Amino acid sequence: MNSFAIIILVLNLTLGGEVSTAFVESLGNYTVTAYCSCEVCCGKWSHQKVQRTASGTVPTQGITIATSWDEFESGENLYIESIGKRFVEDKPSQHIINKYDGKIIDVYFDSHQEALKHGKQTLKVYKIQNEKENNMISIIKGESTFTAMEHNIHQQDGKYQLWITRPNGKSFKVSEDDKVEKIQELKSAIDYAIEKGEAAFRID
Ligand SMILES: [Zn+2]
Repeated sequence: MNSFAIIILVLNLTLGGEVSTAFVESLGNYTVTAYCSCEVCCGKWSHQKVQRTASGTVPTQGITIATSWDEFESGENLYIESIGKRFVEDKPSQHIINKYDGKIIDVYFDSHQEALKHGKQTLKVYKIQNEKENNMISIIKGESTFTAMEHNIHQQDGKYQLWITRPNGKSFKVSEDDKVEKIQELKSAIDYAIEKGEAAFRID
């Protein structure tokens, strides 16, 4: 990348309704295409029993994008003009990456119709670095992997529960126990994994 293309900006981004200040690096224009998990978009990969991205996560509209892993790390946080904040979870075929010289982002949609509606556009892309990103970890439970921005203990119906919040702001329960110590122990183990810089944590 040319050094003059690197501009550090501080922008107020509206992310899922909440405005947060983030450090943003402009990466210039990218060709931004769209895909879903159908056979037209994914060919042989569409026949998996459970749909997975190249990083092992369940592809999710509002979160998942595919791009070159030579340029970006899996899990990296990008902001795409007129689309919003997305996470690098998947990668396109190598011949597609080569065709656009790496300057390609494929945005995941739940339906083929929505993917078609988006079509192919040239859009400005920014790399986001914010505080929350540092506390991100992949939570593996059974056959599913979820990116967690936050994890908190809740009490409900006499039970203690551990809830995680995904990058799209949606929260859900990942564990439950009658004893608060058990849930606190689990939360501490996740905190420790984040502190050590682990990419993933498995909950049995
Ligand atoms: Zn499709």
